Amino acid sequence: MEHFEVIVIGGGSAGLAASIALARSMRSVLLIDEGQPRNTSALHAHNLLGQEGSNPLELLKRGRQEAASYGVHLTEGTVSSLSGTLTEGFSVKVDARNFTAERIILATGLKDQLPQISGLDRAWGTSAIHCAYCHGWEVRDQQILVIGCGPMSAHQAMMFKQLSSNITFVNHEPAELTEEGKSILKALAIPIVNQSVQALEFDQSGTFEAIRLDNNEKLHAQAVIVASAMRANAELYKSLGGELSEHPLGTFIAVNESGATAIPGVYAVGNASNLGAMVMAAAASGTLAGAAINAELLTAAL
Ligand SMILES: Cc1cc2nc3c(=O)[nH]c(=O)nc-3n(C[C@H](O)[C@H](O)[C@H](O)COP(=O)(O)OP(=O)(O)OC[C@H]3O[C@@H](n4cnc5c(N)ncnc54)[C@H](O)[C@@H]3O)c2cc1C
Repeated sequence: MEHFEVIVIGGGSAGLAASIALARSMRSVLLIDEGQPRNTSALHAHNLLGQEGSNPLELLKRGRQEAASYGVHLTEGTVSSLSGTLTEGFSVKVDARNFTAERIILATGLKDQLPQISGLDRAWGTSAIHCAYCHGWEVRDQQILVIGCGPMSAHQAMMFKQLSSNITFVNHEPAELTEEGKSILKALAIPIVNQSVQALEFDQSGTFEAIRLDNNEKLHAQAVIVASAMRANAELYKSLGGELSEHPLGTFIAVNESGATAIPGVYAVGNASNLGAMVMAAAASGTLAGAAINAELLTAAL
């Protein structure tokens, strides 16, 4: 069974940055990734200093090359089980292969759970978007529909109203529209359509063109804003006895400022521990955790 000082599970920006920080300190690192980063469907990543507008998958490809250049062992696959403790060491299973490590970094990201609306998956990340910082500039001044489907929907309407005067709130799940949300929409004079959404519709070239409401009426737009429920990919953490924390946006693994979880020897970085972390913040948390683990291993060896 192959042994590493640190095994990093998940190879998005958080896991790659953690691996690089550790490998540059001469630590033996295995990074295991199944290759499903959260922003796969987006063509460009924004708010990336020095790499503005990069293709998300290209960015990770460059990250893998950088990690490999420092000696990180990169393995494709899904970690199906994680067991052990800080004192006994940890065991990780990927397909039929088993590895051991002294420390674990969970960089497994999160799942965006979208409302069940026909066509939404198809448009997700291109014309159905969630984040004003990721995509807002690209849809500025466009005709935008906000699908009211969660506690953050009215806040999204407020964010996008800053970027376009042409915003309509479609009250898809009326129970989710709080009094606070109603006052935001009222203060900003955002019109509300009290109908649920049946489907997103596309023209012959595949471009999103409208939403169809329950009453069969069509509302034309260039972009749809939708709030996902964000669930940290945390099955492995739970299998060690870890408990998840709740946030209005979803569920996450609570950590300290270095990324250490409540389970000794186990760290969580990126979206797994911070639902709002964008690419640079996810990478920064990975670097911090890598440095913290290196320091921990140094003092443990004294
Ligand atoms: C549509 C969309 C557009 C976005 N656009 C932007 C943008 O423009 N700018 C920006 O800064 N942010 C953007 N984001 C946010 C960005 O996606 C996240 O900040 C970033 O992906 C978080 O990185 P991460 O490493 O934590 O997780 P991820 O990038 O999701 O990586 C997690 C990795 O872990 C792997 N994994 C999970 N479980 C296992 C397992 N058991 N075994 C092995 N591997 C596993 C996954 O397959 C994945 O490869 C966007 C998000 C979405 C949804």
